[in-house]
Amino acid sequence: MKNVRLMAPFAMHCSECQHFIYKGTKFNARKRITDESYLDIAVISFTIRCPRCANEIVFKTDPKTSDYIVVSGGARNLEPWRQKELEDETVEERLARLHEEAKSKPKDALEELEKSTNQSKLESQRDRELLVAKKKADMVQAAAARAALGPAQSDLKTVDLKRARPVPVLATTMKKKKKSLGIVKK
Ligand SMILES: [Zn+2]
Repeated sequence: MKNVRLMAPFAMHCSECQHFIYKGTKFNARKRITDESYLDIAVISFTIRCPRCANEIVFKTDPKTSDYIVVSGGARNLEPWRQKELEDETVEERLARLHEEAKSKPKDALEELEKSTNQSKLESQRDRELLVAKKKADMVQAAAARAALGPAQSDLKTVDLKRARPVPVLATTMKKKKKSLGIVKK
């Protein structure tokens, strides 16, 4: 059993409160590798909780059809085998179905979708801000390192002290590098 963050791989609804769960809704889930398998591919089950009533919904992978099956606590909103029926339905049937679906959907569904979109926008903005803050911190650190390097430079003895002009940091570091390579003699 492992805790994972996942997005609902299909649209479903809670069997307790009929709450509609959109495909892509993010969940904290418990992942479990079951004893079942198909052609050596293990079946993995996921347990999530209904965002509205906290009812446990369990679904698992179906390697045979490369799809998912709801085990308990909910139902898929559109089963793949229903696709064919939907394609065959008449205009009147479709209108009736859409009307029924609209009635069964909670009113705040759209609102929730908007909320989750805004949430992800906020998250990416926060990431950007963190990145900028980190860059700034790095620059400050680099500047501090340069400042510390100047006066504490032990190589200053090796340069001509009669010269009033301070030695640029870059030149001394270059010299240091050369020294370590054995190019410049002491
Ligand atoms: Zn529910």
